[in-house]
Amino acid sequence: MKTSVTGFPRIGTLRELKFASEKYFRKEISAEELLQTGKVLRKTHWNIQKNAGMDYISCNDFSYYDMTLDTAVLFNIIPRRYKELNLQQLDTYFAMARGCQGESGDVRALAMKKWFNTNYHYIVPEIEDDTDIRLSGNKLWEEYAEAKELGIETKPVVTGAYTLLKLCRYTGKKTMDDCTDAVITAYRNLLEKCGEYQIAWIQFDEPALVLDMDRKEQALFRKIYEAILPAAGKSSVLLQTYFGDVRDIYQQLVKLPFAGIGLDFTEGKETYSLIEKYGFPEDKLLFAGLVNGKNIWKNHYALTLQVLDALHEKGIRTVLSTSCSLLHVPYTLKHESKLPQEYLSHFAFAEEKLEELKELKFLASCGDYRLQAVWQENEKLFAEERNCSNEEVKKRLSLVTEKDYIRLPERSRRQKLQKEAFDLPEFPTTTIGSFPQTKDVKANRAAYRKGEITESEYVAFNRKKIAECVAWQEETGLDVLVHGEYERNDMVEYFGESMGGFLFTEKAWVQSYGTRCVKPPIIWGDVYREKPITVEWSVYAQSLTKKIMKGMLTGPVTILNWSFPREDISIRESILQIALAVRDEVLDLEKNGIRIIQIDEAALREKLPLRKSDWQKEYLDFAIPAFRLTHSGVKPETQIHTHMCYSEFTDLIPAIDDMDADVITFEASRSDLQILDSLREHNFETEVGPGVYDIHSQRVPSVEEIVDALHTMLTKIDRDRLWVNPDCGLKTRAVPETEASLKNLVAAAEQIRREA
Ligand code: GLN
Ligand code: ZN
Repeated sequence: MKTSVTGFPRIGTLRELKFASEKYFRKEISAEELLQTGKVLRKTHWNIQKNAGMDYISCNDFSYYDMTLDTAVLFNIIPRRYKELNLQQLDTYFAMARGCQGESGDVRALAMKKWFNTNYHYIVPEIEDDTDIRLSGNKLWEEYAEAKELGIETKPVVTGAYTLLKLCRYTGKKTMDDCTDAVITAYRNLLEKCGEYQIAWIQFDEPALVLDMDRKEQALFRKIYEAILPAAGKSSVLLQTYFGDVRDIYQQLVKLPFAGIGLDFTEGKETYSLIEKYGFPEDKLLFAGLVNGKNIWKNHYALTLQVLDALHEKGIRTVLSTSCSLLHVPYTLKHESKLPQEYLSHFAFAEEKLEELKELKFLASCGDYRLQAVWQENEKLFAEERNCSNEEVKKRLSLVTEKDYIRLPERSRRQKLQKEAFDLPEFPTTTIGSFPQTKDVKANRAAYRKGEITESEYVAFNRKKIAECVAWQEETGLDVLVHGEYERNDMVEYFGESMGGFLFTEKAWVQSYGTRCVKPPIIWGDVYREKPITVEWSVYAQSLTKKIMKGMLTGPVTILNWSFPREDISIRESILQIALAVRDEVLDLEKNGIRIIQIDEAALREKLPLRKSDWQKEYLDFAIPAFRLTHSGVKPETQIHTHMCYSEFTDLIPAIDDMDADVITFEASRSDLQILDSLREHNFETEVGPGVYDIHSQRVPSVEEIVDALHTMLTKIDRDRLWVNPDCGLKTRAVPETEASLKNLVAAAEQIRREA
């Protein structure tokens, strides 16, 4: 049995690619220097996999920003406005990813969306009516040749044609159907070129196959591959799926002439039963995704080997694989010097997962693997009791009743009371919470962490920043203020640190989008709040102003979704434990005079099951009540806000209204305000602040632009329900652009108020 890696992380163990790219964006290094960093990283990553004995290693899984964007560029799917900038290739690419404002022109970035059920974000390619879809880029072949030169035979990875067609936005009159033939030809040419290069295997990633597929979609998939595969010649095609099972297309999929099919046995609830029921063809290789590419817990060898044995008995030729790209887990445990071994011994990051693949491959080849030391060691680990239980937490949760999930009085009544109490102007302006995390802010936190400054020095610095931030907002003329979140490294880690049950890593970074990485905490045990977390900062900030200071918290669903969850208890139970911890904080803020509290649920959608039929029972039925549990105890006059990012939540509107917040702000500027129609359609009751500009770009929006956006919003949202705000926190932005943007935002709100 051989081993395969679906994809490897690319940002670098110590985030080398992030730092090099950011230097390049600041014009501190040349394009050549950035490309050189990329080359070194690729070499390192290939060698790690090779030295770990992997049989199928990917190339073209490396990316300077995003793989979907790479695939778009490979097929010349570059909107005209970026071509017209007349930039070098690399800069055109970055203009699509990040927007561009300067001598060459002024364009916004392409939209960005969450990659299926992960916290990774991909760039949404745009197809215009005159987009000339054809094979054009050469990154794939350059990387293949680069690996070959190092003596490593790789399988290039490309987003598959079906998933690509599904993910693109069609901005003109043409539809997906109109573009299918051109896409087919482009992929045929791709396969022909693979033949010229004598590439043995090519991997097409088709995660869209794990979504619900109707007959028309099934037919489209068949049509595409019936047309593309004959061009493969001597190259073998691996059709790789992940994040679920392919129940709607399985029977058709196995009939197509793929040389290999990659299926996810971790998240694919029905993967195994599909194989049992319909069989798996003898002439194909099954790439069995049994080593979890998304979570950090060690693989339980006994269970994995059971599946491998069963597949073997069925006579299926199996390659052992990761369940998805290892992009979603950190690199290595090697840099974790602080966590005791009793914890570390339960984890496997990307490099350790390679080790697992290798050990499993070895065990599978042994007559009786139960006699092997590695098997016995693994069994011992899983037999051992972890110190993760807290009886008090369990008891408290068991005492929660139905009425704890309901806030009274009903929202319309509260809205009246709050309007009277706050006396805000029409179209109140606010921000999402964080302000620029400048060098001094990060340095202050780092120094405190390292013990280089005392707690009171640390606090004094943050108070100074808060005071400046409050003055800045007053001067700008914002209505509802924030303290700036200078004390937070990360919106989840910060809360986790004051809650029991969490573990933290030092270097376990995972790419979220582009150069942005996150370091998710690990939920090790039962969760509870140890002490008040944000109260002192918020109370201090409120003391500096007569305006209303918003308290700023992260919600339970997001805390769970941005952590590595436990696998020994249900997600539901973990979320509810966290909800009670957040509830304690909400009530403490209120008790201390904070009248507006924002509970961010940036990641609400992330663990939403990919199949609609699973939404309610497997997720919404507990995720939404968990949010309500955090705020059901507050007074009617206390206003609860929530915030969501990249929420393609058009289809989730009723569930979001059901969170029973008073106000919601969300990302909208990068998705052309499509969501507004659905708000209207569903009589959305929550007041809304659809972001009026994109904070993921350094670009400054003009007053007119913001006024335009507000006008559009007003065609769908009642005036007395509309808030004005950026679409997310400002922590990744620099001060000058933030200052200019917020000024324009306030000016736009004022203009709209005057229009009456
Ligand atoms: N309050 C957080 C901030 O402003 C929200 C961030 C987010 O939604 N990702 O940074
Ligand atoms: Zn956000």
